[in-house]
Amino acid sequence: MSTIDASILSPAEKLLWGCGCRLPEHIDLEGIANSKGALVRRRHLDGCAARLVTDGVRAIISVESRDNPGRQRFSLAHELAHWINDAGHGFSCSAKDIGAESAAAKSTEANANLFASQLLLPDYMVVPWMAGRKMTLNVAAALGKAFGASVTASAIKLVRRSSSMAIVVCHDQQRRRWYVASPSWPFDVQPAYELHQDTAAFEIAFKARNGMSAPRKELGDRWLRGKDVYRMMVESQSMKIPDDAVLTILSIAQR
Ligand SMILES: [Zn+2]
Repeated sequence: MSTIDASILSPAEKLLWGCGCRLPEHIDLEGIANSKGALVRRRHLDGCAARLVTDGVRAIISVESRDNPGRQRFSLAHELAHWINDAGHGFSCSAKDIGAESAAAKSTEANANLFASQLLLPDYMVVPWMAGRKMTLNVAAALGKAFGASVTASAIKLVRRSSSMAIVVCHDQQRRRWYVASPSWPFDVQPAYELHQDTAAFEIAFKARNGMSAPRKELGDRWLRGKDVYRMMVESQSMKIPDDAVLTILSIAQR
């Protein structure tokens, strides 16, 4: 860890590094907020997941207390990003604004999500942690437990930093909601728009079964659309996530 070149870290990682964070348990978001002049409150909020109120000098960050702990940490990190990067005015951010999956488009909200992802799951700690591990939801859950992040945010981080061909996809009963692919994922292959009835994800979506399926190998055309998918094998693992959705990690396996 001491060999890290701090000059190449992202802004959020530089902040953590400068606070002496070397291990996941060192990441104290409330402490960082306080050191930046922001107080953190947890309470019921009407119509938003988190809120930043400021007079331009100090700030109060409110986080929805009914959300699960991983979600609350992401919301706090997201508002902290607004406070550090977009200071001067307040924000009321909906559940839709806050999420690691909506970090691609260029906007204030997407930038806050990227910053929040790096505060919760900094690359300089996560990449060494990932070494030698598979792309499964079991591993995403272990990553989330180690860093206090949700399984969804952890799965997205794993896939974004993976050198293998992997994708994380979210479906509901009707359709695909979003997906995030690893850098080496073939550009002409996409996850299917609708869940195949023979997948564990379908059963989880329609039978409202909670929990997580076991990882399993399946034919590629059950999950994917695009060039040569019928020749591929994928390894899949699915779980129920809040808001009646099913999260799946897929990786292209050798036949
Ligand atoms: Zn926001």
